[in-house]
Amino acid sequence: MGKVSKGYNPVRIADEVKKHVTKISGGIELRRYYRFRGGRWYGGIATGDVIGCNMKCKFCWSWHFKDRYDLGELLTPEEAAERLVKIARTNNYSQVRVSGGEPTISREHLLRLISAVEESGLTFIVETNGILLGYNRGYANELANFSNVVIRVSFKGVTADEFNKLTGADKNYFELQFKALENLVNAGLKPGHEVYAAAMISFSNERDIAKFVMRLAEISPELVDVDWELVIMYPHVRRLLELNGLKPKRWVDPNKIPRSMI
Ligand code: SF4
Repeated sequence: MGKVSKGYNPVRIADEVKKHVTKISGGIELRRYYRFRGGRWYGGIATGDVIGCNMKCKFCWSWHFKDRYDLGELLTPEEAAERLVKIARTNNYSQVRVSGGEPTISREHLLRLISAVEESGLTFIVETNGILLGYNRGYANELANFSNVVIRVSFKGVTADEFNKLTGADKNYFELQFKALENLVNAGLKPGHEVYAAAMISFSNERDIAKFVMRLAEISPELVDVDWELVIMYPHVRRLLELNGLKPKRWVDPNKIPRSMI
């Protein structure tokens, strides 16, 4: 990873967190879920929120449950798929996703879950910080084998220093997020359609944002249409930011989000 800088190693943290949020039973990997819900994000989607993440973002909206290993329940991929598909069918959604914590921590569970959903014909959106997919090309290849997958790699800031400031992780690991896109595109996913970038820019300046987009274009010109993320200032997120001494340059007022989106 090059020169070592201050901060934790999110690849190693993934291994540690995995011990708390997964369990092998009968040869199948179970994952801990906090809840299942429907919602209007992405124009309508069934969501399973998992517990456990390999990052410690100081703006994380799910911080109140993502590290709570005592909450929720352990489910097999088939049980989780059944709940997602049921919510999707009831609400006439064509998509499902795993959100909350980081889905890629439980590799066997995630692959089997996507496979179970694939049979239903629904699209599976994998929301990820990309660290493990950048670290492990084989994992990216496995995900790209599915016909129903869309992968959204969410960058934590637009520079390595910002990544370090916002997550507390060693800044060298910022590169793994670009590497994730590269691995997924090389594995055959269509950039801008089956794989795309999102980025938290509440704390970023315009010049760094422009450089970030140019960097994405080097991987593929189709990746420049970024899904920009802003902090949604829920009271629990405001508290977390204050605790961490972070002041966003721009944010979203949760009262201005249509109720149907929440
Ligand atoms: S990667 Fe996502 S879930 Fe994990 S801490 Fe950051 S914002 Fe929260």
